[in-house]
Amino acid sequence: MRNYLKHYINGEWIDSTGDETEDVINPATEEVIGTISLGTKEDLDKAVKAARAAFPSFSQTSKQERIELLERIAQEYEKRKDDIIETITDELGSPLSVSENVHYMMGYNHFAQAAESLKEFSFIENRGGHTVMKDTIGISGLITPWNFPTNQTSTKIASAFAAGSPVILKPAELTPFAAVILTEIFEAAGVPKGVFNLVNGSGSVIGNGISSHPDIDFVSFTGSGAVGQKIMENASETIKNFALELGGKSPLVVLDDADVEQAARTAVGHIATNTGQVCSAATRVLVPSSMKESFEKAVKNVLPEFPVGDPREDNRTGPLVAKKQWDTVQSYIEKGQEEGATLLVGGTGKPEGLDKGYYAKPTVFTDVKNDMVIAQEEIFGPVMSIITYDSIDEAIEIANDTYYGLAGYVVGENPENLRKVASGIRAGRVKVNDAEADFAAPFGGYKRSGIGREWGDYGIEEYLETKTILGFPE
Ligand code: NAD
Repeated sequence: MRNYLKHYINGEWIDSTGDETEDVINPATEEVIGTISLGTKEDLDKAVKAARAAFPSFSQTSKQERIELLERIAQEYEKRKDDIIETITDELGSPLSVSENVHYMMGYNHFAQAAESLKEFSFIENRGGHTVMKDTIGISGLITPWNFPTNQTSTKIASAFAAGSPVILKPAELTPFAAVILTEIFEAAGVPKGVFNLVNGSGSVIGNGISSHPDIDFVSFTGSGAVGQKIMENASETIKNFALELGGKSPLVVLDDADVEQAARTAVGHIATNTGQVCSAATRVLVPSSMKESFEKAVKNVLPEFPVGDPREDNRTGPLVAKKQWDTVQSYIEKGQEEGATLLVGGTGKPEGLDKGYYAKPTVFTDVKNDMVIAQEEIFGPVMSIITYDSIDEAIEIANDTYYGLAGYVVGENPENLRKVASGIRAGRVKVNDAEADFAAPFGGYKRSGIGREWGDYGIEEYLETKTILGFPE
């Protein structure tokens, strides 16, 4: 059992001032695997005070000191590899291979990349005889969701540290344990006291508390649009800076010269990886009408490559994170059927032989119209919608017919068509033919997918203010 009834404030694990706790459940076994304390406003105030006290010295550390700090964190992070992988598998339900190759790997890369980005980063420049300086924004409140316990936390913390900003982190209640390991990593790496503070708790108390706190200068939030809106409202009270990384309903455009089997593998990979609980997952798959049948056949052929089952065994798809998420996914599958989409594979209920655990059937709808609820709303589960198109212009129009704009994908051969689709999709990140991730490249959304960018030097910029000095002596 992992019982973490303390918060990490000012370099120490201290008791919560409240006595409310929350159990953490392993979604593969439905068993309680530990408990966390739900912090109070008082706990948050203590953390804010510690971060404020750390601000003057931390914000004045040199670029070289921060590079070295980030490099030490990356080294300590590597030492905790096995713990990180197993913890994420237990709290989130992602298969061990996904915990290693996605979750662990992303967290590591954010720290390593922040150190690299910082090496090239210029905090001062001369523009037409004036001096423009980049100054630390102040202290930052970080609120993160459950679906990537080390990715979202690490990208925010790495950027904040690179910029010299002390932080208060409130991780998601469903997956709080990876953040405890991160805290231990920061201790081992010698993060100065007060620079990193961890306060566990609910969205309504600690989340709301962070976004409305008069002494927090910046809030970086990743999560749902509904809570993002609340963060904006709260931040407006104190004209607080904020960055929002929200949901998506991303398109994958399959061009008519794409390898149909490979395109199907890419599409299924999106709903299988992390059980489709990925903000940038391609959940609307746009295929040429002429290719519909061969694509549907290919999807059925490749599905067995992504077996669903115990995340501690050699499976590619684990359970959904919680019963509530399972219920939501079921209701969307029912909705798709009511709306008249054709169920190609999957459906409601649990996969055969997986009665215990929040497992859902990988589900593919075809004959989907883009205005159906299943094509417009983020399901956050292993559900794909196949939509047909008759021209590239129509594919781009359908791709953009959404409130979201987080990501887009295009697969095929013809470079002109690939370029046309990639440039035409209104989203913060478009991948052509399964291009590799690049941790230096900015990540964030257009439209209702968010405000701001994370990763690499764009991420560091979020934690900086711009100051112009006229007449600065040489
Ligand atoms: P959520 O919005 O319910 O919760 C996110 C965090 O906000 C949690 O820590 C929660 O406790 C906290 N919170 C809840 N109510 C709050 C309030 N009133 N004030 C402040 N904080 C509050 O989201 P979730 O269900 O944990 O995560 C899934 C969502 O996150 C999806 O919509 C997904 O697309 C999105 N997401 C976006 C990205 C991205 O980078 N754009 C990445 C991952 C997830």
